[in-house]
Amino acid sequence: PTLFAVKRFAVLGLGRNGLPAVQALAACGAQVQAWDDGEAGRRGLAEALAHMPPEQAARVTCAPLETLEGFEALVLSPGIPHHLPRVHPVAALAIAAGVPILSDAELLYRAVRASGSKARFAGITGTNGKSTTTTLLAHILEQAGLPVAAGGNLGPAALALPLLPDDGVYVLEMSSYMLERLDTLRFDAACLLNLTPDHLDRHAGMAGYARAKQRVFTGQTAQDVAVIGIDDTDCSGIAAQLTKGEASCVTVSGANPAADYYGKDGAIWHTQTKLAALGPTLPGTHNAQNAAAALAMARFLGVADSIAAQAIASFTGLPHRQKLVETCNGVAFIDDSKATNADASSRALGCYDRLIWIAGGMAKEGGIEPLAPYFGRIEHAFLIGRDAAELAATLTQHNVPHTLAGTLENAVPQAYNLAQQTQTPVILLSPACASFDQYAGFETRGQHFQALAHAICAQQMSRT
Ligand code: ADP
Repeated sequence: PTLFAVKRFAVLGLGRNGLPAVQALAACGAQVQAWDDGEAGRRGLAEALAHMPPEQAARVTCAPLETLEGFEALVLSPGIPHHLPRVHPVAALAIAAGVPILSDAELLYRAVRASGSKARFAGITGTNGKSTTTTLLAHILEQAGLPVAAGGNLGPAALALPLLPDDGVYVLEMSSYMLERLDTLRFDAACLLNLTPDHLDRHAGMAGYARAKQRVFTGQTAQDVAVIGIDDTDCSGIAAQLTKGEASCVTVSGANPAADYYGKDGAIWHTQTKLAALGPTLPGTHNAQNAAAALAMARFLGVADSIAAQAIASFTGLPHRQKLVETCNGVAFIDDSKATNADASSRALGCYDRLIWIAGGMAKEGGIEPLAPYFGRIEHAFLIGRDAAELAATLTQHNVPHTLAGTLENAVPQAYNLAQQTQTPVILLSPACASFDQYAGFETRGQHFQALAHAICAQQMSRT
């Protein structure tokens, strides 16, 4: 608990990462100056302080960060930029004062090591599949009886995780912003799943984004494992470089048998050996990639193949990722609200031969043009949200029938009626867009879709 004693830390951003950071730092003896540009964040801090032991709360001040001279580090929430062209003024102060900008994952690592615990760290990054792979790996390790704490970009923030004993494993989902703010954290098992354009605005293009993601492998030695997907050109390029590097490199793929671990015939294989069958909660080659990665890391962390196979079979899947909501009169409602970019949506679209598609929101760079290879499967599209017209323009060019529905309230019943008329078996919400124009996040968007689907099905039931 004296790890950070006498040291001064600045915390900017008091949300789901910042608040646990303040609490953990103060609990470890640090003096903390915390700030959030928004009043809601500062109110959250006041509430948190009221629930902290008084001697810890006394180490925290809430005040604007006007200078960073004399601070050990600035802990910046993932959403706050420290890159050109948008550098938050406080990040600029830190850079000018030579004060390191750290993520909460880095502080967790330091705290765990300072406690003497030899707990191992697994880090998972990539454009898509991070949450699924993180959750699946944590599930496998738990089934193997290991103490596990999973979090980071998904679930509890890194500094909200408990201290684990020597045989414990932290499974951290790492965003590029978290990776850029590491210093000493070295992952025993690190994984880069895939790289496709997303979040490019903050990383000055694809090269910067790829560089940020590759940092998951920084500092690894021959005792560590680097797991990397080879299903996109950027990642396979990095894999080729890695095999010459320090850590042992293991390649994974959804369907390419050239990888060390790969999907084939609904199972994961290692060379010629079938390791584990994939159930209906892990549909598609993208989930085969995720499972191959989780399996490769679990094996490296010492889990027996039979236990890993059983764990994969008992995995229930994550909400809002191609989750079957309900089937009614032969029409399946599928919630893939988590698909906030074209690449993620392509995975779901690729799983169904004929479907009605609900999409839209705040479009990402490149829009839905990359989905053109799947347009032939779409009976009709219902478009919602801010950039519906932009999506409609692309669909018009490709002669895909569509309706500007505006909201999910309009889209879901219309989609159901049409599915009945045309005998289309699937209604898929896979927006290929961010949700923030209409929702607090993809979860609320998905919940809304589920509620609308349930209402339609309940009405149908009462009629029959
Ligand atoms: P993340 O945490 O990286 O956003 P998730 O596991 O939550 O990833 O999956 C989000 C969406 O991305 C899924 O709904 C699916 O459509 C798609 N997806 C999942 N895994 C992969 C993968 N390995 N490659 C490409 N797309 C994927």
